[in-house]
Amino acid sequence: MTNSALLQSRRVVAVPRGLASAFSVHAARAENSELWDVDGTRFVDFAGGIAVLNTGHRHPAVIAAVQTQLTAYTHTAFQVVPYEPYVALCERLNRLAPFSGDAKTILFSTGAEAVENAVKIARAHTGRTDVIAFAGGFHGRTLMASALTGKIAPYKKKFGPMPSGVWHVPFPVPQYGVSVSDTLRALDYLFRADVDPANVAAMIIEPVQGEGGFHPAPAELLNALRRICDDNGIVLIADEVQAGFGRTGRMFGIEHSGVEPDLLTIAKSLAGGFPLSGVIGRSYIMDAPEPGSLGGTYAGSPIACAAALAVLDVIANEGLLERANTIGTLLRNELQRISKRNDAVPIGFVRGPGAMIAFDVLKARGGTEPDPEATKRIIQVALENGLILLACGVHGNTIRLLMPLTIPDAVLTEGIAKLEKALTTIC
Ligand code: PMP
Repeated sequence: MTNSALLQSRRVVAVPRGLASAFSVHAARAENSELWDVDGTRFVDFAGGIAVLNTGHRHPAVIAAVQTQLTAYTHTAFQVVPYEPYVALCERLNRLAPFSGDAKTILFSTGAEAVENAVKIARAHTGRTDVIAFAGGFHGRTLMASALTGKIAPYKKKFGPMPSGVWHVPFPVPQYGVSVSDTLRALDYLFRADVDPANVAAMIIEPVQGEGGFHPAPAELLNALRRICDDNGIVLIADEVQAGFGRTGRMFGIEHSGVEPDLLTIAKSLAGGFPLSGVIGRSYIMDAPEPGSLGGTYAGSPIACAAALAVLDVIANEGLLERANTIGTLLRNELQRISKRNDAVPIGFVRGPGAMIAFDVLKARGGTEPDPEATKRIIQVALENGLILLACGVHGNTIRLLMPLTIPDAVLTEGIAKLEKALTTIC
């Protein structure tokens, strides 16, 4: 029995099945874009801990910053005794905020917490209750974040009742036959039939849907939502948890549209593998909640803040925004080439800005019918060949590529070759 198999048998007994893992191999160590399991098998990592590792596993600058912080203090609770790394990080994030005017930032630990708090801040600012979100969107697993998530199974099934005042409209995805005007018409119907816009505190949208399948929100839609929010006093929240910190070739995904959101939720690649999230927003909105109404014991941990300050340095010093575009162009070209191979499983709809690239596995070449079973087999075969891949999408037939932006060219080429092998092996 392998060490991973032994751990898997212990895990099945000790950990509930509600927490599903994509694989049964267990990690031993990891470095940049490579990971070794407890049996010494090496993998190229194209999952990046679900979009957390734009700066790679254990970036030396991040580890050094964390080690320095460990020798000073590890926890005081910002609500009790505040500390400089938190303040310094907020100052840096405020300077990066993709909107004009003054910004303030508050830090938490998880993406779902950031989403929860963005909604609380929007409610306190507007004095209103309701929130509009999008079908296929993903915002986390806490109750409000689950309610905002636009997918029933597995996220909401058996967990009701969900918090009230949450409404969904379709997200435009051309291959599913939903256009921007369909979305805007649905919003118009919603405002006429179900919810008075005067009761809506916020709209939340991912600039590129992550779990939903790497579908970019068209600039036309984001501009229209900005106008609707302005006309109705609604707070526009960009959920940048998955798209943020360079993945799309810009610091934040929304920057591709030129639209200025009011609040941004951030997490994942913000802190290079340490648990940290936050809300960046317009100062006059961020200051709406009363003192003491926001926070959390571990929110904005000094260790994670030190890591995040190093991550922001790495993104700038190593030119990772440009690198995301280079990686993205290579991936797009390679996937287009593979999609033309007659001996490869049918793939199509290669998409995404920068290095936020995904493609669909289809039943027939040139078709649209999803093939989630083939997708599972590809991911399994890739693992057997030493490549960690991740699926997503409402039909479970999208493969997303989330390699670190720091991946060396040789490892990137190796990973793409392994992907190509998996796509041709399962035919
Ligand atoms: N928002 C988006 C866009 C996400 O992709 C995720 C996580 N996949 C979340 C929120 C929730 O983040 P977390 O799992 O850290 O709570």
